[in-house]
Amino acid sequence: MMLGEEMAARIRRNLEQIRSRMAEAARRSGRPPESVALVAVTKYADPPLIRALVEADCHTLGESRPQQLWQKAEQLADLDIQWHLVGHLQRNKVRRTLPYIAWLHSADSLPLLEALQHHASQLNRPVATLLEVNVSGEATKHGFAPEELPAVLQALADYPQVAVRGLMTMARLEGGPGAARADFAALRELRDRLKQQFGPRVCLDELSMGMSGDFEVAIEEGATMVRIGSALFEGLTP
Ligand SMILES: *Cc1c(COP(=O)(O)O)cnc(C)c1O
Repeated sequence: MMLGEEMAARIRRNLEQIRSRMAEAARRSGRPPESVALVAVTKYADPPLIRALVEADCHTLGESRPQQLWQKAEQLADLDIQWHLVGHLQRNKVRRTLPYIAWLHSADSLPLLEALQHHASQLNRPVATLLEVNVSGEATKHGFAPEELPAVLQALADYPQVAVRGLMTMARLEGGPGAARADFAALRELRDRLKQQFGPRVCLDELSMGMSGDFEVAIEEGATMVRIGSALFEGLTP
């Protein structure tokens, strides 16, 4: 069992290392480090460890499962945290999830967008949303197919409380950072095409892509948000 102080030192060091690797990757792609946000994915971490992370000055946290997000948000309600849901959200969990989150990274169907619209208007608060795209076409993945996006963006006019801000993807599992780079580039190119097609009617500024194994590649390909879990908690979780 690690002592609190030891844990705090280790999480500070890990966080510093991740941030400096992010900044290097941003510079390599000719962008300022502030143009890329870190979403610390806390699904491997228990509340004391998350508390140490927040105390190390990391306030943007992500969870992949709604129930775990509810629980952790309740347990850490005294802290200044902006929660992002990065994993799949079922329609029947939208009502309970929305009050906790600032961002949803994983809108992946029209019925879900409709549920988001319904509950966000009841709360009278728009929800910042990214559309998840299954770039690699793997059957196990959630997300819209790239060719569905134009129709989805057309439909957004019916969902004014769903504040779409960009696109999200998960790179393919096989092939390492090289294969991931192709998926990230494909997401950026898709975004650029849609921007041309739709102009200022839609906001597609954000690209949420890159995790522990491939975040530097993602930043080089234009990520504005990276979702990092295991690398941040290295040496701290089993
Ligand atoms: C777990 C998870 C991450 C973080 O993955 P790591 O490889 O641990 O950095 C990012 N995005 C989603 C959607 C996840 O479920």
